[in-house]
Amino acid sequence: MPRKNPFWWRDVYKENPEKIKASVLRWQKNNKEKVNLAHQSWRMRTPRGRWNLLKNHALKRGVKFLITSDQFVKWYVAQEKVCVYCGVSEENLKLTGDSYNSRNFKLCVDRKENHKPYRISNSVLACNRCNFTKSDFFTYDEMIEIGKLFIKPKRHVLSKIGE
Ligand SMILES: [Zn+2]
Repeated sequence: MPRKNPFWWRDVYKENPEKIKASVLRWQKNNKEKVNLAHQSWRMRTPRGRWNLLKNHALKRGVKFLITSDQFVKWYVAQEKVCVYCGVSEENLKLTGDSYNSRNFKLCVDRKENHKPYRISNSVLACNRCNFTKSDFFTYDEMIEIGKLFIKPKRHVLSKIGE
């Protein structure tokens, strides 16, 4: 008996590539929700996924996006995962008791200067509350003050996070 080839599926694929592609497409078409969920989870879980999400979001809003996938991954991995404005850490987002931060428990990428394109030098990590509060209304420097003076103390009233 010949040993079973562990890559038997490669041979099957080589023999019937069209048939297999069609069957995968059919499965995806019939399982759109599963496919969407898997894609969504990939985009939230991995740095490359986050980059993809950010880029699509920027392009949809007509904002210039000048960050390559490699640049983003390198930057994102090196970042301390805390909000630059209020100082909350990503792992503590679920303890904030803040409706804005309970959407996905992830820090988002904020543009320091809102009228400028997405570039690494214009990017910081922020919690959803600070990102929403800053919007295109407060400057980066103003928001640093607001985060420190108002959002951080308020957070300690609302949440289970100790000082
Ligand atoms: Zn914050």
